[in-house]
Amino acid sequence: MSSISRLSKKISAIGESATLKVDAKAKALQAEGRKVISYAAGEPDFPTPKHIVDAVRVALDDPKNFRYTAATGLPELRTAVAAKTARDSGWEVEASQVMITNGGKQAVYQSFQVLLDPGDEVIVPAPYWVSYPEAIQLADGVPVEVFAGADQGYKVTVEQLEAARTDKTKALLFVSPSNPTGAVYTAEETKAIGEWAQEHGLWVIADEIYQNLVYGGVRATSIVEAVPALQDRAILVNGVAKTYAMTGWRLGWMVGPSDIMKGAANLQSHMSSNVNNLAQRGAIAALNGPQEPIEEMRVAFEGRRNLIVEELNKVPGFHCPMPDGAFYAYVDVAGALGKTYRGVTPATSLELADLILTEAEVATVPGEGFGRGGYLRLSYALGEGPLLEGVQRIQALMAEGN
Ligand code: PMP
Repeated sequence: MSSISRLSKKISAIGESATLKVDAKAKALQAEGRKVISYAAGEPDFPTPKHIVDAVRVALDDPKNFRYTAATGLPELRTAVAAKTARDSGWEVEASQVMITNGGKQAVYQSFQVLLDPGDEVIVPAPYWVSYPEAIQLADGVPVEVFAGADQGYKVTVEQLEAARTDKTKALLFVSPSNPTGAVYTAEETKAIGEWAQEHGLWVIADEIYQNLVYGGVRATSIVEAVPALQDRAILVNGVAKTYAMTGWRLGWMVGPSDIMKGAANLQSHMSSNVNNLAQRGAIAALNGPQEPIEEMRVAFEGRRNLIVEELNKVPGFHCPMPDGAFYAYVDVAGALGKTYRGVTPATSLELADLILTEAEVATVPGEGFGRGGYLRLSYALGEGPLLEGVQRIQALMAEGN
């Protein structure tokens, strides 16, 4: 028998995505005919706006789209992304500083691949999106978690970051609006964190995929806009998935200093080459076309946010701060644990999520998947009918606790 293991150590260490796990259980229950309402999905329920789909239809008739194109992306799209970056992130970049990727996820992965050497530490504010620690570890880096709970609006402070910094810290991950919490750092908070990173020569990877999904007049200030000096040591990650309801098209991008982008282009040229040209054509229409359909979706999300947060705060033992962005409500459920519901006494949010799924047929994602238990994430990217019915079912079940 060979002593060489079948699966590499690196891959064996990757965990299953918590969100996909819940989704799988919800789907299995649905397949049994049960009427499960799912708040687990991380994607808009709207169809991709028609003008984007129409542009792709036209592109389908042009054979040049059937060929390999530059690994870094179609020039027109890189130009459109550069314009969007100037518009929304306040950073005037050349199109050559933009690389088109297979979703924001590939941009996250590649950012760590190009930046990290073995043992380099990356500060990751928690609760965090499930893929970050894995992407850091796959690049031989070390994620260093800094936790911010509901009491601090799920936002880390400079003091906390400084306490986590060591001589191995290479980068800070900055995500605003956040998945899973929906928290948005104010311009002042962003500036303070950016100045701290600048002072210590840290890199910043800013995941701005939710930057246009903000509510109540709030704006998500880019960290490179707040602290322009960081532009030499920042990578922005973004994409069309969330803002334009284009999750399945798989189109994102990364923006950064030229040397870093050259490295990322070399990596991508060996890994996946160009992103599907049709998706790129759709993204050009998305970024350069009318923005009214996007505003309609944003307004719909804002209405749903107001509704779900109000209802969640009526649930005994639940506390949900008002999120300013993305499409997630992140509930502190500590007050609901340790009570008995229909003979079950959940001690953790994992057990509570399981109880709610089994008894109320409502799928939520427990905080354990985002770095810390005691919380549930509910995506409000679903129609208002089920949106309300799902929380009402949770209210009814939780009211039975004693
Ligand atoms: N960043 C965050 C914070 C996300 O929530 C997601 C999607 N869940 C992504 C990046 C990746 O998006 P995509 O690959 O679909 O563009």
